[in-house]
Amino acid sequence: MSRIAAFVLSCASLLPLSSMAADCTVTLDSTDRMSFSTTELMVSRSCPSVTVVLSHSGKLGKNVMGHNWVISKAADMGGIVQAGISAGLDHNYLPPDDPRVIAYTRIIGGGEQAQVTFNTSLLQSGEDYVFFCSFPGHAGMMKGSIKLTD
Ligand code: ZN
Repeated sequence: MSRIAAFVLSCASLLPLSSMAADCTVTLDSTDRMSFSTTELMVSRSCPSVTVVLSHSGKLGKNVMGHNWVISKAADMGGIVQAGISAGLDHNYLPPDDPRVIAYTRIIGGGEQAQVTFNTSLLQSGEDYVFFCSFPGHAGMMKGSIKLTD
């Protein structure tokens, strides 16, 4: 028994603290009404990385009401959305390997879930960042700001 307890303890001490900090994970939902559940996301600067979990509580398929979660500089959103239209669903309506895209999830339909993890070091202080859905015609309604907090 004591050997097992010691083993568990030594494993626990190897875990990085960040893996236990729940606030480094952000969740949001999307719907059949072409909306995200929030228009503002907060990410703590103390998180080395943040995981965004996107759900879709609607019923429609990803070919008609697909949603993804994309983050970029505010100034880059329009160009990414425009280029994403011709990229098509197979490329999640995003231009392949576009350096303006900081992170993104795949396009999901009703009842699905997707997530992405990215390093917060990619976000610069003083820059405006947005998140949006790149499905054609969605970014006008499905967008929000993402802010770093101390
Ligand atoms: Zn969408």
